[in-house]
Amino acid sequence: MDGCLFCRIVAGEVPATVVFESERTLAFRDIAPAAPVHVLVVPKNHHRDIGELTDADPALTADLLTVACEVARTEGLVGYRLVTNTGADGGQTVDHVHVHVLGGRPMTWPPG
Ligand code: 5GP
Ligand code: ZN
Repeated sequence: MDGCLFCRIVAGEVPATVVFESERTLAFRDIAPAAPVHVLVVPKNHHRDIGELTDADPALTADLLTVACEVARTEGLVGYRLVTNTGADGGQTVDHVHVHVLGGRPMTWPPG
């Protein structure tokens, strides 16, 4: 999708620190980490948010979660948090679905 930041990262037009890549997914470090480990996992194809992705491609949704857990394992996280902000009220600021993998410190609940 034209102008989408994460599409541009997938295309290699915007640099990112990639930690994992598969045929349909990419995982890279968040530019403003909210925890010692903060990785974003995205589908290479553009989907707006998790609701749109689950409708459009359930198998890719499963891939995204599988990769997120695999990244957590590779990063050595014992406990971790997966977050998928959805829509403006959900705190989503980049409209290309992504799973945050957060860890390396105790996570508090509830989030802000
Ligand atoms: P959201 O707020 O949509 O759930 O998450 C978007 C995330 O993208 C934020 O945590 C933000 O720090 C991250 N982000 C924004 N711009 C860039 C960028 O250019 N590169 C990387 N690696 N992460 C970014
Ligand atoms: Zn996109």
